[in-house]
Amino acid sequence: MELALNVLDSFSQDYPEAQSRFREAATKLGFSLESHSIGENGPDGSELSFDVACSTGGDPSRVLVISSGIHGVEGFFGSAVQLGMLDEWSQGEMPQPKVVLLHGLNAYGFAYSRRFNEDNVDPNRNFLLAGQPFAGSPPGYAELDSFLNPKRPPSSWEPFSAKAVWLIAQHGMSKLRSAIASGQYDYPQGLFFGGKGPTRMQTILQQNMPRWLAGSEQVVHLDFHTGLGAWGTWKLLIDYPLSELQRKQLAGWFGADSFEANTESDIAYDARGGFGQWCVAQKFSPEYLFACAEFGTYPAVKVLAGLRAENQAHHWGKAEAASTRKAKQTLKELFCPSAASWREEVLRQSKQLVRQAEQGMCGEGKS
Ligand SMILES: [Zn+2]
Repeated sequence: MELALNVLDSFSQDYPEAQSRFREAATKLGFSLESHSIGENGPDGSELSFDVACSTGGDPSRVLVISSGIHGVEGFFGSAVQLGMLDEWSQGEMPQPKVVLLHGLNAYGFAYSRRFNEDNVDPNRNFLLAGQPFAGSPPGYAELDSFLNPKRPPSSWEPFSAKAVWLIAQHGMSKLRSAIASGQYDYPQGLFFGGKGPTRMQTILQQNMPRWLAGSEQVVHLDFHTGLGAWGTWKLLIDYPLSELQRKQLAGWFGADSFEANTESDIAYDARGGFGQWCVAQKFSPEYLFACAEFGTYPAVKVLAGLRAENQAHHWGKAEAASTRKAKQTLKELFCPSAASWREEVLRQSKQLVRQAEQGMCGEGKS
């Protein structure tokens, strides 16, 4: 038996490293592995793809899905969770349910250190349900556009903080957050753009999820994210109406205060086009419990400033410019802090969440 992976070693330096380590660890454990090209190249010129690994021995009527990197740069954390779990399972026993790992879903954003994809689409605002148009913006977004998406190369002096503080004072943080982060479909170079049609990644998922989840009667899906909430803490965010059973399961497995399904809450926002509501609506399985596991990093204003700066540099700066590199490095730090204490804590909590889901599915939860 090999030595268990040090917690901090689960974090990779870049996407190619994360991808090759994921592939190797999954293959070693006997998972079946497939890669799906997204039709783009990474900074090193290689073809970009995301990977899906399915365990081969578990009970296929119950499936535990763990996904990472739908928000690109957040994949540094989500990938570490998946690597950490693969390592844990290699040291002990595999879970009873079948396990499906979706790794680096937004491979472009992961590879280029951004939250958005190759078409500047926020994939987690792109999963609109039947009948919802790829058009429209939240009230107030038009006013904010010129501030959020300056159409000029980055300069050394950006009056972000003063302007942001003024806007918060004027509108209030929760109103502002909902105007900014709930998704817009009108400004293709702006932040939180939901796209004009389904992304290639969504189409691939649509075509293949029925196969990965074939024969399932119950699916529990944890989708790992960062950048919202207090430093090193987590919440499960739910973007679809929960059934009584689902509420009981969430409370029993993870704790009564573990989840927020309330659109009026401080932390969550009423976003359109989320991955969760889409998975549930597709009826991939009779029982589909999806939770976005969101881990806090830096304060919201700082995160927003970083998103704005990276987006500006990505569209209007030069790829090789020092200012562009710095904006991307900063974004990575904002969504995956380098502090060892943060990394140890969030990985410990994430692994516990996965174990609780696993035990809950096997009827060993608190409820
Ligand atoms: Zn996210």
